[in-house]
Amino acid sequence: MYIVGITGGIGSGKNAVTDHLQEFGITVVDADVVAREVVAKGEPALDKISEHFGSHIITESGDLDRTALRKIIFSDKTAKTWLEQLLHPIIRQSIKQQLHDAASGYAVLSSPLLLETDQHELVETVIVVDASEELQLARTVKRDNSSEEQIKAIMAAQLPRQERLKKADIIIDNNADLESLENQLIKLHTKLSKTAEESK
Ligand code: ATP
Repeated sequence: MYIVGITGGIGSGKNAVTDHLQEFGITVVDADVVAREVVAKGEPALDKISEHFGSHIITESGDLDRTALRKIIFSDKTAKTWLEQLLHPIIRQSIKQQLHDAASGYAVLSSPLLLETDQHELVETVIVVDASEELQLARTVKRDNSSEEQIKAIMAAQLPRQERLKKADIIIDNNADLESLENQLIKLHTKLSKTAEESK
């Protein structure tokens, strides 16, 4: 399976891109979704988290209390490391499995942390969705109804735009409207389908 990685800063348009690719019939594995799936109710990792931190970390409905867990790992570095060491291999294995099971011409791994983690090792091509910092900020504030300060703090913790662009094999320019994005994606999809076919 030819695997394409898609990344970009907050609000750069990763979801807008992968929504289109899914419409073209392409399997998209979203690392954020997988990270939630592996701690869903009934998953072994959730039991381990509950054993380690105590049952107060589970809500009455049996789900992970994300706010409670976030509070613990925010103030306790050892707890954060423990959690990462538990979840990292499980998430990676699940991503690999889902990409392996994909039945489309090529498959996509979409991850905000593709370049910051070893997830980029799972992909053959790195695609960066790029928008100016002003657009990232404006679009995210509008989407999430959040404050500029919150979004700026997240942007500051992410890889700087130019660093990310340097690591790209392909750049999707998402500085214009959605129509322009779609036009680029039609061409990109044709190109990726061809490359995938040739690499068989
Ligand atoms: P995150 O990292 O937070 O998950 P993302 O990279 O997936 O963000 P999107 O959610 O796809 O970003 O885009 C952010 C917002 O900007 C969304 O509301 C989306 O509809 C809008 N958007 C994306 N591209 C464009 C565009 N070209 N023109 C106008 N709005 C856009």
